[in-house]
Amino acid sequence: MKNTIIALYFITISFACSNNKQNAVVENKPAEMESSMDNHSQFKPEMVVNTTDFACGMPVSAGISDTCHYEDKAYGFCSAECKAEFQKEPAKYLAAKQ
Ligand SMILES: [Zn+2]
Repeated sequence: MKNTIIALYFITISFACSNNKQNAVVENKPAEMESSMDNHSQFKPEMVVNTTDFACGMPVSAGISDTCHYEDKAYGFCSAECKAEFQKEPAKYLAAKQ
């Protein structure tokens, strides 16, 4: 009987420990997702048809933080400001590139 109580005691402790570990892993996950959301690499240069930011001329391979669709094509921009600039006169920027 004494052995059973001791065994139960250790099972309870190890169960509590493994529970703590699981909680720690779950707590870490949202933080990792948050940091990947902040990372501008969520947009890949191969996802867009332009190789340079139309508004500022920066290569999109340096980092895309915003994209927009124009005539069924995706265009990447380094910033929301550059995207807004392109969206004012997309035809003008596209004509200048051709
Ligand atoms: Zn730009």
